[in-house]
Amino acid sequence: MVEREKNISVLKGIPFDIDAASLGESLRIRAGSEEEATLKELVECARKIANPKAIYRTCFVNCINGDEVTIEGVRFKSRLLSEKLHSVGRVFPFVLTSGRELDDYRLDRTDFFKVFLWDSLMEHILREATGFLRREISRNNLIENLVWMSPGSGDAEIWPLQQQKELFSLIGTVKQEIGVELKESFLMIPTKSISGIAFQSEKDYRSCMVCRRANCHYRSAPFDRKLRDSLE
Ligand code: SF4
Repeated sequence: MVEREKNISVLKGIPFDIDAASLGESLRIRAGSEEEATLKELVECARKIANPKAIYRTCFVNCINGDEVTIEGVRFKSRLLSEKLHSVGRVFPFVLTSGRELDDYRLDRTDFFKVFLWDSLMEHILREATGFLRREISRNNLIENLVWMSPGSGDAEIWPLQQQKELFSLIGTVKQEIGVELKESFLMIPTKSISGIAFQSEKDYRSCMVCRRANCHYRSAPFDRKLRDSLE
């Protein structure tokens, strides 16, 4: 499952688990209902075809100059990234995806309920793959607390989405290896993909801590006003 070449690791067929009952509960689907039968059918299908993948590199920070961080000759501009990497030597730029197989699955697009369920399943598998990648990098590099930052995640000014271009160029063969394509809009296809730079940190960090968006269904950490204000 893991292919390693130089300092690049490619993970294919990342294992995942789907507990249909708890997924149904989180989507407020009644046990024994017709909706639950549809969910179970789609879960079976996703189990058969899903192939989540990831690619990451092990890199070293060359230098940090003000808001600029240079990693193996590629320059990134973000005050928070520069602060976070100040005492970090080793970083792991990565792209992770729930996979083309799920994205390309022929679903009746006029059936909005099925589209919603499929989308939720892809989200779930992406979360499972995220946990796997976190454990994989941590175990292979003896890291206790791995965090990451993603371009465009949270407030746009924290780390502009446009820097996806630099991130993809630093990693290299993303499309060839795991099928994730960077569009001109700097968004990724499949959309259920995550990119970023992972690193060891004593303190926990999540983009949600500096994101002001209210009522976000996916928020994983409370807004940290002090941290956000320190970036103004
Ligand atoms: S609060 Fe929502 S939009 Fe903001 S970073 Fe977290 S998940 Fe993304």
